Amino acid sequence: MAPPGVMDKLVSLCKRRGFVFQSSEIYGGLGSVWDYGPLGAELKRNVKDAWWQAMVRGRDDIEGLDAAILMHPKVWEASGHVAGFTDPLVDCKTCKSRFRADQLESAQCPQKPSKHPGEHTACQLTEPRMFNLMFKTFMGPLEEQAAVVYLRPETAQGIYVNYLNVLQSSRQKIPFGIAQIGKAFRNEITPGNFIFRTREFEQMEMQFFVTPGSEDEWFERWRGLRMGWHREIGLTPEKLRWHQHGPGELAHYARAAYDIEYEFPFGWNEIEGIHNRGDYDLSAHQKASGKKLEYFDQAANTRYLPSIVETSAGADRVTLTLLVDAFREEQVEGETRTVLGLHPRMAPIKVAVLPLVNKDRMPETATELFNDLRKRFSSFYDDGGAIGRRYRRQDEVGTPFCVTVDGQTAVDHTVTVRQRDSMTQERIGMEALPAYLSERL
Ligand code: ATP
Repeated sequence: MAPPGVMDKLVSLCKRRGFVFQSSEIYGGLGSVWDYGPLGAELKRNVKDAWWQAMVRGRDDIEGLDAAILMHPKVWEASGHVAGFTDPLVDCKTCKSRFRADQLESAQCPQKPSKHPGEHTACQLTEPRMFNLMFKTFMGPLEEQAAVVYLRPETAQGIYVNYLNVLQSSRQKIPFGIAQIGKAFRNEITPGNFIFRTREFEQMEMQFFVTPGSEDEWFERWRGLRMGWHREIGLTPEKLRWHQHGPGELAHYARAAYDIEYEFPFGWNEIEGIHNRGDYDLSAHQKASGKKLEYFDQAANTRYLPSIVETSAGADRVTLTLLVDAFREEQVEGETRTVLGLHPRMAPIKVAVLPLVNKDRMPETATELFNDLRKRFSSFYDDGGAIGRRYRRQDEVGTPFCVTVDGQTAVDHTVTVRQRDSMTQERIGMEALPAYLSERL
């Protein structure tokens, strides 16, 4: 496990360098809600783009969707969320804190010395009661029971209720999938660990519709593909593992489920779930809506309700995982160098352009180069301060390449390219630079 304090350092770096800010900070913040600053917005966008490319654009058998957050309240009755999307909650009458009854062993009682809730003699825990995690609001001007709508707690239901629309309009055949990225809301009892567990977050979900009987095979295939994706975006393979849900852990809809877990500084935790859902969802919606949701297999001349294999990841959680995985401090010439060793494809800034000094037409040449590069790569221009300090500033936000315009540039049209990880520099002709960068990004 990483040494304690890494999370504190990362949270402070995220604020200082504009990755993540606390929501409504000037009013004291809002519990476990976070905003993404300029670099965080880029990083999270790169996560979502990489997912969309792997799941939608790069495949013939998956279609994209962008369903609304608000849905007919009957959707959540049929899906089982109104009755069953609950966590067991206990209150402590002494310290007034709330805990998840099933997570007392990993929770901390606020009283000193540090212990788990219930372990101090003064602790007075109530009996667990079930607490629904869905946020409620009202549609229209009247705040009455008939007007209740929910902020969706997952994006999956928008896919199920649109499955026939997508099928018919895209002319896909089973097996095929529908993918979507969007906000979800959960009134978590114990949110925390920065952006790991928040009350508003983004999901990247894909539902794959298959012939009944073939779900186990597809489940295995999707497990392999999804683990592969987390490695491709640069996560350390040794810090990824599988966790299979035991019978007591399985969600109400799942026949089998595996989580992909990552070893965070606060322990192994889920970053993505792969679920074999059978036909639970479509049959529930067929029954509740009275609309036939069967698939007609022309070749076999049969009708059936497809089974579903789901892959469900959190965009914010993957973003946090990338930051944690990339964060390192090293000693260089007696100084601490902070580096985000992000995969170049994920880095918010790909290339920084720096004039060595602010004279001898170096800023003009650098600006020209910057304006050219920014058309193709997320680029940054910096002419402030000593060159060493500017390099360090880029290391700290994960920029893989720094390009410096110096005295030699005017003579032979070359610049230096400095690599973030090795800190080595090489001279490259300015004309060759776009191709050099493309190759390495
Ligand atoms: P957990 O056990 O951590 O509460 P879960 O099993 O309820 O998660 P799923 O419903 O399977 O999670 O959601 C799929 C993914 O959505 C999770 O793997 C995670 O990446 C993300 N996610 C779920 N809840 C949150 C949250 N409160 N904040 C941020 N991301 C979340």
